[in-house]
Amino acid sequence: MISQHNIQALASWLPAERRPIVISGPCSAETEEQVMQTARLLSDIPQVKIFRAGVWKPRTRPDSFEGVGEKGLRWLQRVRAETGLLTTVEVATPQHVELALKYGIDILWIGARTVSNPFSVQEVAAAMQGIANPVMVKNPVSPDLNLWIGALERIYKAGVQKMAAIHRGFYFFTKSPYRNAPMWEVPIELMRRFPNLPVFTDPSHICGNRHMLADIAQKAMDLEMNGLMIESHVHPEKALSDAQQQITPQTLRKLISGLMIRKEKGEETFESKLELLRSEIDKIDAELLEILARRLDIVSEIGKYKKENNITILQIKRWRNIIKERLADGTGRGMDETFLRHILELVHSESIRIQNEIMNR
Ligand code: PEP
Ligand code: MN
Repeated sequence: MISQHNIQALASWLPAERRPIVISGPCSAETEEQVMQTARLLSDIPQVKIFRAGVWKPRTRPDSFEGVGEKGLRWLQRVRAETGLLTTVEVATPQHVELALKYGIDILWIGARTVSNPFSVQEVAAAMQGIANPVMVKNPVSPDLNLWIGALERIYKAGVQKMAAIHRGFYFFTKSPYRNAPMWEVPIELMRRFPNLPVFTDPSHICGNRHMLADIAQKAMDLEMNGLMIESHVHPEKALSDAQQQITPQTLRKLISGLMIRKEKGEETFESKLELLRSEIDKIDAELLEILARRLDIVSEIGKYKKENNITILQIKRWRNIIKERLADGTGRGMDETFLRHILELVHSESIRIQNEIMNR
C-alpha cells in the first residue's frame, strides 16, 4: 500500500506559487519547428511549468500517425535547454522508459491505455526501479478506481515517490457531449484516499473539442485539482493527432487568465461534496431512464402478443391491481401518494398509446 507519508508533496518537486500548474504542449511531437515554436510561446505563460509531447502515440487504428519516436526526444531536450521548461513524455514500454531517461526527460507519464493493463504497468514499473524522476499516472480508460490505484501502487513499489495522477475522463457507452466522460466522483474519491497525491485534470482528452475546455478547466479548479494538462499546437487544425481538441498557445493563455481560482486546498469543500451528490443523481437518472426504456420495450412486446391473440389493450382489473400495489409500495418508501399516482398514470397512458399504435399497424 502507498503510505501517505512517503508520497512527496508536489511542492517538493514542482515549485509553483499558485494554482493552476499547467502542463502543455502538442498531442504529438511532429517536427522540430512545431515543437520549438509551441514551446517558446508556452514558456511565456507563467503558469505553464511543464512541456508535454507524445513521441510514441497509442492510436486506436493502425496506419494513423504513430509518433516520430526517438528523434522527438532530442527536440524535447532542446526545449528544456532553450526555454527552461521541464519536459514530459508518455512511456508505454520499458524501452520507452530507458530512452526517455537517456535523453534527460524530466517527468514520465503513463497513458490511459497502458494503465488499463496491469501486465504493461508492471513492466514499465520494473524499468522505473529507483529512478528519481517524477511519474504521472493517467486514469485507466474505464472508470475503475482500483485499477488506477493499482498502477500508482506498482510505480510506488518500484521506489518512485514523486507521483501525480492525471484525470483524463472515462469511456462511457452512452452518447455524451464528451470524448471521455469526466465522472468527477472518481478523482474525488482518489483525492479523498490520498490527500498528498497531486492530481491534474486533462480537459483536452475529456472534451475532445476546443469549445468545452474552459468549462472543464474551471470545474477542475473548483474541485481543487492541483493543475491542468492541456494540449497546445501552433497550428491546431493541421495537427497529426487530436486536431479537434488542440488550441494555440495564445488561446491557452486566455483560457488560463479566464479561470477563477476560488479557494486554497483545504478540507473537503462545499463544491466537491455537491459534485459528488450531483454525479450520484446523474447515475440514478441514467438508471431510471434505462429502466423506463426496458419497461416500454416489454409493453410493446405485450402489445404484439395481444394483437396476435386478439385481446383488448386495457384490462381494467389488471390496472386497478397495479395502482393499488404500486401505491402501497411507494408510500411505504415514504413517497407522496399524489406524486406516485401522477407517475403511474403517465407511464400507463404512454403504455396504452404504444399498444394502440401496435394494434393499428
Ligand atoms: C495523450 O495525452 O496524448 C494521450 C494519448 O492521452 P490518453 O492516454 O489520456 O488517451
Ligand atoms: Mn492527445
